[in-house]
Amino acid sequence: MPELIDRFSRKIDYMRISITDRCNLRCRYCMPENGVRHLPHREILSYEEILRLVRVATGCSVTKIRVTGGEPLTRRGIIYFMRQIKLLPYIDDVTITTNGILLPDYAGDLVNVGVKRVNISLDTLKPEKFRYITRMDLFERVLEGIRSADEAGLSPVKINCVAIKGFNDEEILDFARLTLDHPYHVRFIEFMPLGENDYWRPDKALHAPEIMDIIGRVYPLEPVINSKADQNGPARRFRIKGGAGEIGLISPISRHFCDTCNRIRLTPDGRLRNCLFSDQETNIKEALRSGAKDEELARIIRESIQTKPSGHKLQEDASHKCKRSMWKIGG
Ligand code: SAM
Ligand code: SF4
Repeated sequence: MPELIDRFSRKIDYMRISITDRCNLRCRYCMPENGVRHLPHREILSYEEILRLVRVATGCSVTKIRVTGGEPLTRRGIIYFMRQIKLLPYIDDVTITTNGILLPDYAGDLVNVGVKRVNISLDTLKPEKFRYITRMDLFERVLEGIRSADEAGLSPVKINCVAIKGFNDEEILDFARLTLDHPYHVRFIEFMPLGENDYWRPDKALHAPEIMDIIGRVYPLEPVINSKADQNGPARRFRIKGGAGEIGLISPISRHFCDTCNRIRLTPDGRLRNCLFSDQETNIKEALRSGAKDEELARIIRESIQTKPSGHKLQEDASHKCKRSMWKIGG
């Protein structure tokens, strides 16, 4: 089937799949504490349905898959699902984004089914702050999850930290120091205005240049050049001289990477989203469940990609928020 190329000549080869809207944490910037209305079971795509869509997408140009959530490791059968994805033809990269809580149970299994690396989200290195931001007392579990991932051989272990002024700006150096002795890739992500919650405020966003400045004043940073351009992703990568790991800056706001965006997203309830910040969605579940042939599903994916915007406008209008929250999209 023809490749997925959008109106701006961007080739779509990366699909991010959110397999659940359930989570074992309640991060303040992502989910409400109470009154979360989860999707009923019948609304969530089954693994077989997701695998069929992935097969169709890989028959076009998708080769990279990221599994996310909610918390993907909370969905029953996750290891079976990861194995099935790995077995599909044309897939060359399958990864998972997790909060790490269940990694002590699953890191070894992930490696056994062929997953090579993992992204773990952690916004603070202080237990009491972790309790505040996630509303759960599970900090030690995440640390154990990081260790388990490392010991199981997942490499690199990427630690994703959302940089939030007034919350963790004083910890930027502590996170950076983690890369001195550990081969971790610590990646700072700019705080984005998404979904209905009142934690986001424009003045809480700590932008990549400020983060560079905080680290650069203490440790000179060297750029990491990867000869394979497509492995760089949206992170600008650096290393503290002599450090074992890397530091990455992901700056969707201050220096967006829309021009090279190669992604499409699938939500747990079977909607395609062609831009994280746009509320435009395509209901592919309807076609999937009413007997559409592969060609028809490919046509729907192609049409969705044709409406992919050239970029977001958050720099001009920081108050804009898309309606769906991250726990319902997957990041
Ligand atoms: N539960 C998993 C986790 O936390 O890694 C996967 C899903 S979570 C929605 C994916 C990522 O989105 C996490 O790294 C989280 O910190 C990030 N995230 C959620 N809301 C965000 C926001 N408003 N701005 C920036 N990153 C956000
Ligand atoms: Fe859950 Fe991840 Fe959202 Fe935190 S960021 S509430 S761990 S989905």
